[in-house]
Amino acid sequence: DQVNSMMKYDRKKTEFLVNLSHELRTPLNVILGAIQLMEFDLDLANNCIKEPECLKVMKHNCFRLVRLINNLIDMTKIDLNYFHINKRNCDIVNLVEKITLSVVDYAKSKNITVTFDTNTEEKIIACDPEQIERIVLNLLSNAIKFTQQGGNIFVRTCDCGDKIRIIVKDNGIGIPKDKQKSIFNKFEQVDKSLTREHEGSGIGLSIVKALVEKHNGSIKLNSELGKGSEFIVELPCEVLDESKYKSGSSSNDKISDIDEYNDRIYLELADIN
Ligand code: ADP
Repeated sequence: DQVNSMMKYDRKKTEFLVNLSHELRTPLNVILGAIQLMEFDLDLANNCIKEPECLKVMKHNCFRLVRLINNLIDMTKIDLNYFHINKRNCDIVNLVEKITLSVVDYAKSKNITVTFDTNTEEKIIACDPEQIERIVLNLLSNAIKFTQQGGNIFVRTCDCGDKIRIIVKDNGIGIPKDKQKSIFNKFEQVDKSLTREHEGSGIGLSIVKALVEKHNGSIKLNSELGKGSEFIVELPCEVLDESKYKSGSSSNDKISDIDEYNDRIYLELADIN
């Protein structure tokens, strides 16, 4: 009986989080809309004026909130088993390469080199490209966050026959052995102090793990403190019978304004200062 009421309470808490997240999104959308209007008024598109620093700061921090709220919504949906992925056949090698290339300039501005490598030019598998993008961007964003200036990040896809591996490796600060299992748990961070150097909510990796598992895949970590970390995502190489599935966009209700590819990249990297 006690277990039953605990479960009920837990469900109530999760439902509260979903409602709260949705309530937080509304004013945030209004603020983002207002910022966009200001940008429009300044005619930034025609390069009449450089974007004022304060506008950039407002937008950047709105994006951080958007990411946090989207992640909270997804986390609660995953907990309640409401989260569905939309698989279709796509070239995972090309997808991962494109995502990796999209952060190269960003990493360069932090003096970090990002390199992509693969043992195959193409591999068509059934996956949800939007979610693969989030998985890889989350791992890359962490790699950039926890790697010092002058560091290196390697992304590699490896065709292993019935499985494909996506490896994101950095030579950053590494993760202590006793934390390597728990960092995939919700809200888990190695450095929880208020004075920590990096921003974050500690839900990125728990979502990554859940998204990988939704693809019937697995995620592993090899890391040594002070030397670096390597995250290995393994996905099964299945393809869908094209005639048997409907293509269409993901039904997950994210904040709708953030559709542009560049904005989505920017959004996922918004925790890095
Ligand atoms: P956060 O929002 O805090 O980055 P994550 O769930 O993405 O949350 O990561 C959880 C924790 O795992 C981080 O706070 C960090 O301590 C550790 N971590 C994740 N990726 C790396 C990495 N590449 N190098 C070192 N530590 C990492």
